[in-house]
Amino acid sequence: MLEISGVAKAFGGFQALIGVSLRVEPGEIAAIIGPNGAGKSTLFNVITGHLVPDAGRINLKGRDITGLPPHAICRLGLARSFQRTNIFPRLSVFDNVQVAILSHEGRAQEMWSRARDLGRERTMAILEDVGLAGRAAEASGSLSYGDQKQLELGIALALEPEMLLLDEPTAGMSPQETRSSMALVARIARDRRLTLLFTEHDMGVVFSVAQRIRVLHQGRIIAEGAPDEVRRNDEVKRVYLGKH
Ligand code: ADP
Ligand code: MG
Repeated sequence: MLEISGVAKAFGGFQALIGVSLRVEPGEIAAIIGPNGAGKSTLFNVITGHLVPDAGRINLKGRDITGLPPHAICRLGLARSFQRTNIFPRLSVFDNVQVAILSHEGRAQEMWSRARDLGRERTMAILEDVGLAGRAAEASGSLSYGDQKQLELGIALALEPEMLLLDEPTAGMSPQETRSSMALVARIARDRRLTLLFTEHDMGVVFSVAQRIRVLHQGRIIAEGAPDEVRRNDEVKRVYLGKH
């Protein structure tokens, strides 16, 4: 589904990514973990076209997407969420997802002129999936932080992606919200046969969900494997010393 080879990215003289290579198979649930500043968001921005890498190639479904603009990459089936929430707070929960569906189809302007029911069933189906159907009419900005993240997930699903990138989807959540949110994400990924790649700075969050984990540290991948292998890795323990 996704193959990254030798990706590098510098900001001025600072090397944020150095020779990053990885492969994600179709249907895989994969995680990139690493402390704050490791380069996780930078890697996501490079994959989704928000940043152009200085070196290396990125392939999606066998097609070279290096340097393509974000909307073109999104059209090829790769959707993402951002580390900070990215919703329209004054629109209702329903409208946020409806706008995403209609704009994906190039029909966003119709929403303002007529047919408020446009795409209603699909919008409600997505809200059911992310557990927000009962709150469809509420202003998005009034949702709890955890629910706003679920709404963001719904907006990403509206784009009918084959692959989903989630950047620290549980950042700012309570431990309980984190657990239920990750369980929901994993269930949706399995139900929809999505390939999922997500980042996380807290090691504990990923072990129950990810099938394969890469550890990014100072711009390099220092470990890779199944959760148990990564947990036992000595270098990983050093990086996370005192935390887990
Ligand atoms: P993570 O998501 O793992 O916390 P980031 O990818 O956000 O890490 O950042 C990696 C490093 O790159 C950090 O040291 C950060 O300060 C730096 N960095 C990220 N974006 C920029 C930018 N636009 N300009 C300069 N430095 C940046
Ligand atoms: Mg980040």
